[in-house]
Amino acid sequence: MQFIRPFCDERQSTWCLHCTTSLSEVRTNKDHVPSKCFLKKPYPENLPTVEICAECNNGFSADENYFACVIHAVLAGSLSPDPQHHPEAAKILRHNQGIARRLNTQSEQVDLFPHELPFTVYPDYKRIERVLVKNAKGHAFYEYGEPMLESPSTVEVFPIHQLSADNRARFESSEDVGDLSAWPEVGSRMMDRVMTGRDMLGEWIVVEDGIYRYAVDQAGGLRVRMVIRDYLGAQIQWFH
Ligand SMILES: [Zn+2]
Repeated sequence: MQFIRPFCDERQSTWCLHCTTSLSEVRTNKDHVPSKCFLKKPYPENLPTVEICAECNNGFSADENYFACVIHAVLAGSLSPDPQHHPEAAKILRHNQGIARRLNTQSEQVDLFPHELPFTVYPDYKRIERVLVKNAKGHAFYEYGEPMLESPSTVEVFPIHQLSADNRARFESSEDVGDLSAWPEVGSRMMDRVMTGRDMLGEWIVVEDGIYRYAVDQAGGLRVRMVIRDYLGAQIQWFH
């Protein structure tokens, strides 16, 4: 990815996006958005980061690791994938056998991956959601300079191939974004991308082709869309 220097008001990065602690009072870390659990090695250069408090940054690690196990198990169709056919998944799940065991047995969780039979996992939806919302807040701040300190109004997560044709088209492109009032602020990274097309495919920012892409727009409030491994889609919105 290309590095883009923002010109948005620096005062907006005064608080941790996740716990709203004043960053001047605590130890801080640069947090990768996207999380590395969304990506494939070798990672692209100049991955976006946002400054958050060290406690939140450390707190996300276990959930991000969990997320990686879930997505790789689902895509490989197994909690102990064949290393020859699925080397990346096999490595991650071998290193996290406790998580793999829990994914096989937890039964109180929502059915996040219906119709993926005969293989089914039972992920803890709250952990999946925490990772997605963290990234949505990070993307919104990095691209638009907008600190979304509140919880989002809606969080939707779905395998993209299970969307109907109409819903898939709506998810992939937005009719509402052409409206001038929804254009990014001058000086924001998003405005730079709109003007130069940097890392863009249509309205999506492609971090790694076929691995991770995201889009941020301000139609009706603020909306972040993400697609992980051309499989898992998420749409997270803050309404006005
Ligand atoms: Zn924090």
